[in-house]
Amino acid sequence: MSQSDAKMGPMPEPTIEHEPILIGGGEVGRCPTRIHYRRFFADERETDPVVERRIADGRRWEATVVASLLDGSGAATMATPTDPFERTAPVTISPVVEPDDREIITARLLDAGVPLIVGGRLTSAALGAVGAPDLLLRLDDGYAPIDVKHHRVIGRSGIPARVTPIKRLADTAGSPLPFRSARVTDLLQVAHYWVLLDHIGHANRRHLAGIIGSDAGPTCAWVDLAGGRPSVLDRYQIAFDMATDVVAAGRVQPDRPLVPAVWRGECRGCPWADVCRAELESIDHVSLLPAVPADDTERLLAAGITTTAHVARLTSDDTPPEMDNATEAILQARARGAGRLLARTGADMTLPDRRVEIDFDVETYRGALYLAGLLVGEPEAVEYRPISDWTGSPDGERRVIAALFEYFDDLADRDDFIVYHWTGYERTILKEASARHGVALRSAPSVDAWFDRHACDLWAWIKQRLVSPNGYSLKVIAPLCGFNWRDDDPGGAQSELWYLDLLAGDLSQRSRLLEYNEDDVAAQRAIRHWVRSHSAASA
Ligand code: SF4
Repeated sequence: MSQSDAKMGPMPEPTIEHEPILIGGGEVGRCPTRIHYRRFFADERETDPVVERRIADGRRWEATVVASLLDGSGAATMATPTDPFERTAPVTISPVVEPDDREIITARLLDAGVPLIVGGRLTSAALGAVGAPDLLLRLDDGYAPIDVKHHRVIGRSGIPARVTPIKRLADTAGSPLPFRSARVTDLLQVAHYWVLLDHIGHANRRHLAGIIGSDAGPTCAWVDLAGGRPSVLDRYQIAFDMATDVVAAGRVQPDRPLVPAVWRGECRGCPWADVCRAELESIDHVSLLPAVPADDTERLLAAGITTTAHVARLTSDDTPPEMDNATEAILQARARGAGRLLARTGADMTLPDRRVEIDFDVETYRGALYLAGLLVGEPEAVEYRPISDWTGSPDGERRVIAALFEYFDDLADRDDFIVYHWTGYERTILKEASARHGVALRSAPSVDAWFDRHACDLWAWIKQRLVSPNGYSLKVIAPLCGFNWRDDDPGGAQSELWYLDLLAGDLSQRSRLLEYNEDDVAAQRAIRHWVRSHSAASA
């Protein structure tokens, strides 16, 4: 079956564009298949409530940042191209202004040299580009585009940036910190705006653009778009050309994307995920192996290795030589073919032996802890003991962390127990809540020290010993061990929506959240039961 055949069922009728091609800032660096679907198929996709909430959160964050920037600045708001404004004060273009008028107003403000423009719009038919930068900041003899993002952009390694508090936005010589490489699409987007500004003679000559993320501060990460090899501008040009090619090809052949679907990180939040997943599953596409990063997928496809079944038949001698981790790809393909977990060769499958096994899992909203679930397994009985607060307040979080630490301190007086958790999330949340409220453990100098002594990250334990056919999320591993959640839509993001409903007065969500948390800890217990009762086949 061809890829296009595979996706035909759920597709709406295609529509063909007749306007000149104008690539938007949000399209640069985006999955080419998604660009095609969004442009050439009537968009009747159901919006995922989780994605909807993220978008709403993003808008609220942007409004908060802008309000903070404009506070006390004497900013004016323009609703028509003829509205008056001061050259020396920031200007916000009203959200109700239509695109054509927005461009006229933006041009006026740029020519006048106002210090900050909020809500501008730039178009160039010659470039084939359109863009709506959140902010345009007067810098040197031109402007720098800045976008506001509701995610963290500062990392431990990545693209060199200078980071400055937004209260000193124009200070582009702030602390040298790396901009996360995984967020490079943000930079491609502001590069798009910089190129548009450059085309009309208003770009700052230092090629600077900024991203205000949700890192503590908040702060703006300034990046030299022309720095490094390849520079952000080099990468932008490749991405822009790709987007243009996709749209041009789509106009000729709207029923088939120029670039077929490849499963990637972006798929998780994409409205076309169900279509692409079904299509890729039907052809056993190699990108379905989570252990294969995007670059390795390209290498495999270029070598004519298109299916996971083909990967499963390879040895490390006949994979493309540049692959990052060919061995893991082969093992995962074999697990996928077998449809189950496979033990790694020589792995010691002996779990720690303690009289009491406690499974631990936290529920949070925007990083704030409201529920710590403990499934306490003694030889005689197993009991679920939640520690919770449903007020949504800082005091509530303090009560939860204090009660939990008291429980941990009491536990530490005995030595016959172990606490299991899944990934490092629990440690991180406890450390952050502990610091926020000045609540410390009595039985250990730090959260890390307590966990090092008394806890086991079951996720890491499993990953070291077993090969999964489809990644290492608890929601993947537990069903492979025979466990299923009672809720038919379990997930951390969904649980945040239930929590919001609860705070809004829907008290039925409390039992749903407790049940979900209880199942999360029961899932860990079920995985260990499976490990102990199965001698998994060797990978
Ligand atoms: S699901 Fe993935 S491959 Fe498909 S259009 Fe979306 S991002 Fe692209």
